[in-house]
Amino acid sequence: MATPLIRIYGDPVLRTKAKQVRELDEEVQALVEQMVAAMCDNQGVGLAAPQVGSLLQVIVARPDTEEDTEIFQLINPRIIAADGSQEGIEGCLSLPSLRGEVKRSAQVAVEAMTPEGKNITIEATGLLARVFEHEIDHLNSVLFVDRTAADTLCWLIPDPETEDGYRLEETTIEEAEQCFARLRDKRQAKGGAQQ
Ligand code: ZN
Repeated sequence: MATPLIRIYGDPVLRTKAKQVRELDEEVQALVEQMVAAMCDNQGVGLAAPQVGSLLQVIVARPDTEEDTEIFQLINPRIIAADGSQEGIEGCLSLPSLRGEVKRSAQVAVEAMTPEGKNITIEATGLLARVFEHEIDHLNSVLFVDRTAADTLCWLIPDPETEDGYRLEETTIEEAEQCFARLRDKRQAKGGAQQ
C-alpha cells in the first residue's frame, strides 16, 4: 500500500472537523498504519487524519524523529488538562517549509483510546505537549497559522552556505496561501488524487 500524500493548505478537508471514531474496524486500523508511515516518511513528529484526507478523530505523534522513539497512536484524543505555557517555532507537513512562533501549553494530559481499544491518559511536556495540541487542533480544523503571531511567519529555506544549513525569510499568510495554491495546482497537473 502506497503511503498517502499529505494534503496541502487550501484543501477543504483541512478546514473540516473530524468525527469521533465509533468502531475500531479495519478501516481505522489501516488508517492508523498509513498515518504512521506517512509521518515517518516525511520526518514529521505528528500527523492528524485530515492531513491524509480522512475525517476521523485519529492522530499519531512522537517526541522526536529517532528511529526507536515511541509512537503514540491515538483515537478520539482530547486534552483533559493543560498547564503553563511555552513559546516555540512550529511547522506543519500540510504547510511545507513554513514556520511561525506559536504559544502552547507547557504540559498537557491527553485522554484517548489505543487502536487496541484500551483507554489511556498520557501526560506530556515540552515538544510532545506541543505536538499533541497541534494535532488535536487539526481535528477541530484549526491550523498553526491561526495561532501564529503574524510577524513571525517565515519560510525555512535550505542554504548550504549557512552554519545550520538553512535560513529564514519573512513572509505573510497571503504570500504563503499563493505558494500553497501553486503547489496544489502542480500536484493536480501531475494527476495526483489531491483536491
Ligand atoms: Zn500540522
